[in-house]
Amino acid sequence: MTDDRVVVALDVGGTGMKCAVVRPDGVVVRAERHPTDAARGPAAVVGTILDVAEGLADKARADGLTPIAVGIAVPGVVDEARGVAVWSANVGFRDVPVRDLAVARLGLPTALGHDVRVGGLAEARLGAGRGSGHVLFVAIGTGIAAAHVVDGTAAVGAHGAAGEIGHILVRPDGPRCGCGRPGCLVAIASAAAIGRRYAELAGPSADAAVTAAEVAERAATGEPLAGQVWQEAIDALADGLASGQALFDVATIVLGGGLAQAGDGLLTPLRAAMRERMTFHREPHLVAAALGDEAGCLGAALLALDAVGVRDHQEKR
Ligand SMILES: [Zn+2]
Repeated sequence: MTDDRVVVALDVGGTGMKCAVVRPDGVVVRAERHPTDAARGPAAVVGTILDVAEGLADKARADGLTPIAVGIAVPGVVDEARGVAVWSANVGFRDVPVRDLAVARLGLPTALGHDVRVGGLAEARLGAGRGSGHVLFVAIGTGIAAAHVVDGTAAVGAHGAAGEIGHILVRPDGPRCGCGRPGCLVAIASAAAIGRRYAELAGPSADAAVTAAEVAERAATGEPLAGQVWQEAIDALADGLASGQALFDVATIVLGGGLAQAGDGLLTPLRAAMRERMTFHREPHLVAAALGDEAGCLGAALLALDAVGVRDHQEKR
């Protein structure tokens, strides 16, 4: 029997939307990208989300497929139970009932999710955490956020705010975080913080804008200052992840986001630093994410499939 069922999935970011038509086994049959153009304001962004979702559903039908649900991932604070985008700095959402708007427009069951949580869902079920059961997905980029996924379900938290590992206190006397408190992990080990720290130590005479990726590269070539800054970030990350492991006892930690593209330059020293911090806790497998920037879109698709109770064969891809 052929299965013609598909879901429509959108991962809405500050600059772009990754969109796809996805089969129940996780295979993408159509992929599109559209600009978010957040400067137009939240109403226009929601209009684009609905237009793109409807367009993908129509194209799927034209291909002889049957759209059964829609999954939409957005950044910020997301009330998944009510389907409301509560707050987002980079898209401008304030209490937008995205799910109800999509149901009204498309007439399909719709799930709304948080971008990092659905990314973690996808990595745990289809990507680098596949088969692990207990997975902590940590996205390290401009910010640092995590998703704790147990047996294929990501914990949302009582207030939709689970997984804020970036705000674990790792350096009480450290730099002030955007949240107002000094010493949060994200204030030391985010891509932005690494670049800032390098510029601070290099002094005003040096080239001001060095990215975290460049710090990683320079550290690998043996530049002492880059090596120091990179190691500071590694140590802070190891402290944060060790706290995560003490809480969750996962089998696998999957590192995603821009910083994970440093590959072994990140993983090798981070594994060593984690090992130093493990006492009676079991050391988790520390691996790089496998799905790249498609994780959010695939996770939105999984959320849509879960919403309609279709969860067959996903893990057997
Ligand atoms: Zn903070």
